[in-house]
Amino acid sequence: MARWSAMGTDDRYDVLVVGAGPSGAATAAWLALAGHRVLVVERKRFPREKTCGDALTPRAVRQLEDLGLADDLAPHLRFEGLRSIAHGVTLELPWPEHPDFPSYGYVVRRRDLDALVADRAIKAGATLRTGTEALEPVLDGGLVTGAVLAGEADGGHETVRARYVVVADGANSRFGRALGTARDRRYPLGMAVRGYFQSRYHDEPWIESHLDLRDRHGNHLPGYGWIFPVGDGTVNVGVGLLSTFAGWKDVNTSRLMEAFCDTAPARWGIGPDTACGAPTGGKLPTGLSVFPKVGPTWCTVGDAAGSVNPFNGEGISVAYETGRLAADAIDEALRCGDGLALQRYPQRLEEQYGLYFKVARAFVRAIGNPAVMRELTQVGFLSRSLMEWVLRIMANLLRPDELGPAEAAYRLVAALVAVSPEP
Ligand SMILES: Cc1cc2nc3c(=O)[nH]c(=O)nc-3n(C[C@H](O)[C@H](O)[C@H](O)COP(=O)(O)OP(=O)(O)OC[C@H]3O[C@@H](n4cnc5c(N)ncnc54)[C@H](O)[C@@H]3O)c2cc1C
Repeated sequence: MARWSAMGTDDRYDVLVVGAGPSGAATAAWLALAGHRVLVVERKRFPREKTCGDALTPRAVRQLEDLGLADDLAPHLRFEGLRSIAHGVTLELPWPEHPDFPSYGYVVRRRDLDALVADRAIKAGATLRTGTEALEPVLDGGLVTGAVLAGEADGGHETVRARYVVVADGANSRFGRALGTARDRRYPLGMAVRGYFQSRYHDEPWIESHLDLRDRHGNHLPGYGWIFPVGDGTVNVGVGLLSTFAGWKDVNTSRLMEAFCDTAPARWGIGPDTACGAPTGGKLPTGLSVFPKVGPTWCTVGDAAGSVNPFNGEGISVAYETGRLAADAIDEALRCGDGLALQRYPQRLEEQYGLYFKVARAFVRAIGNPAVMRELTQVGFLSRSLMEWVLRIMANLLRPDELGPAEAAYRLVAALVAVSPEP
C-alpha cells in the first residue's frame, strides 16, 4: 500500500473524526478547544454541497454562537419564525422567547456553513484533511484504534491511529456499519428532496412550510413542503415525509416535489424557468435510531447516530449538540485516562433526548394515519395559540423555567408516552 502521510503509523492522535459535516466539525472543534490532538478526515473537498433545507433553528444558532461564530452568521439570511400554511390558512409564528435560545434562526447554504464550522475546528487546533476517505476501521486486540484512509489525489492508503474514533459520516454511515452499527427499522425514517430556485422574495424574514402535503390520490401525508429564503437571490424548496404510513415505499419523492412546485404560491415564481438545477434528495434517520451509539473506543454522532428530530426533520442542531456531548465524554475519558467515561455518552443522550424523541415518535406514528393528519392540521389552524405551542414543542423550545400551556400539554402527553412499550 502506498503511504503519503507525513505522520508515521506510531504517532497517535487523541481523536480521529470521520466526516466534517455539522456533527464531525463540532466534535472536532470542542475537542481541539479542550486541548486534544484531533484529526478530521472528510471525503469531499470544501466548499462542498450537502443536500439540505439549509435552515438553522434557534437551537442550531445557539451552538454556533457558543463556538464564537455569531459574526460569521450575521451576513446570512436571518429569519424571525415560521410561516405555516394549510387548508388555505396562513399563520406567521415568531420563534418564542426562551432563556437559553435566541428568538431567530438563519438560512445558510451548507456549502458555506460546513466550511465555516470546519474552519473553526482548524482555528481551535484540529487538523482537517479533505479529499480523504476513511475506508475501514483498524482493530487491535478487538479495539478500534484508527482507520485506513484513502486520499483522492493519488489513491494511496494510509493507516492513522487514534485513542478514540468519532463516527460522523452521515445518514448512510458506511464507516459506522463497518463497526457494527445498524438502524432500528421500527423508528421512523425521513426522506426529503430539495432544489434551489431564483425568486424575487429570496430575502423574506420567514421560512415557509406547507402542511397539507398530499399523494396523488389526495391523501394527506405525514410531512411538509417548504420554501426557505436563502438571501442570495434564491429560495430552497423541498418536500419531506416520514415512513410512518402504509405505502410510503411507493411514494416517488421527485414526483411529490414536482407536484409541490406546481401548487406552491405563484408569487415565489417557482418553476422550470427559475430552477437552478435538478433537485437532490436524502434520508433522515430520526429519533436516535442507530445502535449501538458507543463501543469501548468509538462513538457515533449526528445522522450516523440517527439523531434527526422526528417532529420536524431538523438534524443540524442535534448534530452540533450530539457532537458536543460526545466531545465532553471523550475529553473526560482522555483527561482521566478512563475509557469508561465514554460509556456515559449514551446515557447523556438518553437524558437529553430520550423522552422527547419518544413523544415525537408517538406523534409521527399517529399522523401516519391520513385522517389524523387531516384532522390535526384542520383543528390546529383554527387557533394561532395552539399552533404557537406546536411550534414550541416541535422545535424543542419548551421553557424549563415556566409552565405555560405548551409545556403543560407536552408534560401530559409525555407522561402517557413514557409508560408506553413502543420504542
Ligand atoms: C433534503 C434534506 C433537507 C434537510 N433540511 C434540513 C434543514 O433545513 N435543517 C436541519 O436542521 N436539517 C436538515 N436536514 C438534515 C441535515 O441535513 C442532517 O441532519 C445533517 O447534515 C447531519 O449532519 P452530520 O454531520 O451528522 O452528517 P452530514 O452532514 O451528512 O456530514 C457527514 C460528512 O461525512 C463525510 N463522509 C462520509 N463518509 C465518510 C468517510 N468514510 N470518510 C470521510 N468522510 C466521510 C461526508 O462527505 C459528509 O461531509 C435535511 C436533510 C435532507 C436530506
